[in-house]
Amino acid sequence: MLVRNPYDGSVVGEVPTCDARGVRAAIARAHEALPDVLPQHERAAILERAAGLVIASRDQLAELICAEAGKPITAAQVEVDRAADTLRFCAIEARTLAGEVVPMEGSASGAGKLGFTLRRPIGVVAAITPFNFPLNLSCHKVGPAIAAGCPVVHKPASATPLIATELHRILLEAGLPKQQYQLVVGSGTEIGGVLTSDDRIALITFTGSSDVGWSIRHSVTRARVSLELGNVTPLLAFDDTDINELADIVARGGFAYAGQSCISVQRVLIQQSMYEAAVEAIGEQVSSLACGDPRDPDVVVGPLIDEAGREKVLAMIRSTIDAGARLITGGGHSGNVVQPCVLADVDPSADIARRELFGPAVALMPFEGEEHAIELANGTPYGLQAGLLCRNMQLALRVASRLEFGGVIVNELPSFRADQMPYGGMKESGNTREGPRYAVNEMSDSTLVVLQR
Ligand code: NAP
Repeated sequence: MLVRNPYDGSVVGEVPTCDARGVRAAIARAHEALPDVLPQHERAAILERAAGLVIASRDQLAELICAEAGKPITAAQVEVDRAADTLRFCAIEARTLAGEVVPMEGSASGAGKLGFTLRRPIGVVAAITPFNFPLNLSCHKVGPAIAAGCPVVHKPASATPLIATELHRILLEAGLPKQQYQLVVGSGTEIGGVLTSDDRIALITFTGSSDVGWSIRHSVTRARVSLELGNVTPLLAFDDTDINELADIVARGGFAYAGQSCISVQRVLIQQSMYEAAVEAIGEQVSSLACGDPRDPDVVVGPLIDEAGREKVLAMIRSTIDAGARLITGGGHSGNVVQPCVLADVDPSADIARRELFGPAVALMPFEGEEHAIELANGTPYGLQAGLLCRNMQLALRVASRLEFGGVIVNELPSFRADQMPYGGMKESGNTREGPRYAVNEMSDSTLVVLQR
C-alpha cells in the first residue's frame, strides 16, 4: 500500500498489507503467545526503554506524523512527547499492577478465611486506531496491553500505517518478544471484520468514528468491546469571561490540526449579553491563523486527511450557510487545506450543531442563562468532553455536574488532555475510559483466591 502526504499528494512510503488469511495468522501467533507472559518488571522495563527510544527519535517521528497525517510539525512534536509520557505511565502500571485483599472477616460466613485477588491478562487484545493521533493513540492501546501482559493485534488506520510500523519497530527494539505484538495493515472494511469476529480475541479496543465503533459493538458476541468515539464538542462561555481569552481558546481549541481531534471545539455557546462582541473577536482571531504547509512551524491549520474529509467539511459549511447562518470568516479551500471558518447564529438543529464535523469550522450560538446553556450543550447524542469558561466557580461547578460528558474542562481548552487522565465518553461517544491505569484495568481480569486458615 502506498501512503500519500495529504498536503501535496507525494508518496511518503509503502507498507505491505494483510489479507484475511494474514489477519487470522497474526491472531494465531498472538494466541500462541498467551502462556509466555513476561514478568511485570520486564514488561515495565520494555515500556520504559520504548519511551526512551521514542524521545531519541523525536524529530524523525514528528516528521513522519507531519508527512503521513498532515499534522503541523509543532503539533506532531507534542504528540511524540505525549506518546513517550503514555508509555511511561504504562510502565508504572506494569510495575505496580496488583490485586487486592478482600476483607473476609467482615462477615460471619467469611470468618477464618483469607481472600485476595490475582490480576491476570484478559487474553489477546485487538487494537484498532484512527488516523488523527496515529502514534499516541496507538500507545494508549498497545502500551496498556503490554503492561497487562496481553498479546496484541494492532490495526492502524489505512492513512497512517507508517507511524504504527515505527512504533512496532521501537517496541521490538526495546525487547518486546515479537509474538506479543502483531501489526496488521489493511482496509478496515476489508479486514476489520476478520479481526473483530475472531473468537480468540478477548477484548476489542477501538478508537474511531461512532458509526464504525457501535457497528462493531453490535456485531460482536463474545469479546468485550471498549469504544472511544466522536463528539460535537461544546464550549460554554458565561458573560464573566474575558472576550480575548474566549477568542484565543476558540482559535486554538477549534482549529489546531484543522479541527481533526475528537475534542476539537465545534460549538461555541456564548451568553447573549456578550454575544456580538464575542463573534467579532473570534472572527478576528480565527482569520489570523496561519494555514498551509504543515512542515512550516508557524502553521496551525494544515490539510484535512483526504479529499473525502475535505468535501464533507465544505458541504456542512455550505448547508449551514444555506440554512441562514452568518459566515464570519473562512470557508474556502486550497487543495485539502480548508480556510478556518466561523459561522454565527447557527440553529441548534443544524447538522454542524449535531453531527461531528472533524474540520476547521466552529458554530457560534447565543444562550440566555444557565439552564439554556446546559440544555444546548447536552442537546446532541454525544458526550465525550466539554469546555466551560466561567470565573464564578460556584456556577462552574453547578454546570459541570449537570453536563452529560465524560470530561468537563474549566477555563482551559476543551481539547485539553493529559495522558494519565481517565478519558472517554457517555452516550454515543463511547462506553469506556482510556488512560493507562483504566485501560490496564480493563485488559486484566481477576481471580479470587480464598484460603481456609
Ligand atoms: P474511522 O474511520 O472510524 O476509523 C478508525 C479505525 O477503524 C481505522 O483503523 C479504520 O480502518 C478502522 N475501521 C473502519 N471500518 C472498520 C470495520 N468495519 N471494522 C473494523 N475496523 C474498521 O475513524 P477515523 O476517520 O480514522 O478517525 C476519526 C474518528 O475517530 C472521529 O470520529 C474521532 O472523533 C474519533 N476519535 C475518537 C477519539 C477518542 O478518544 N474518543 C480519539 C481520536 C479520534 P481504515 O482506516 O482502514 O478504514
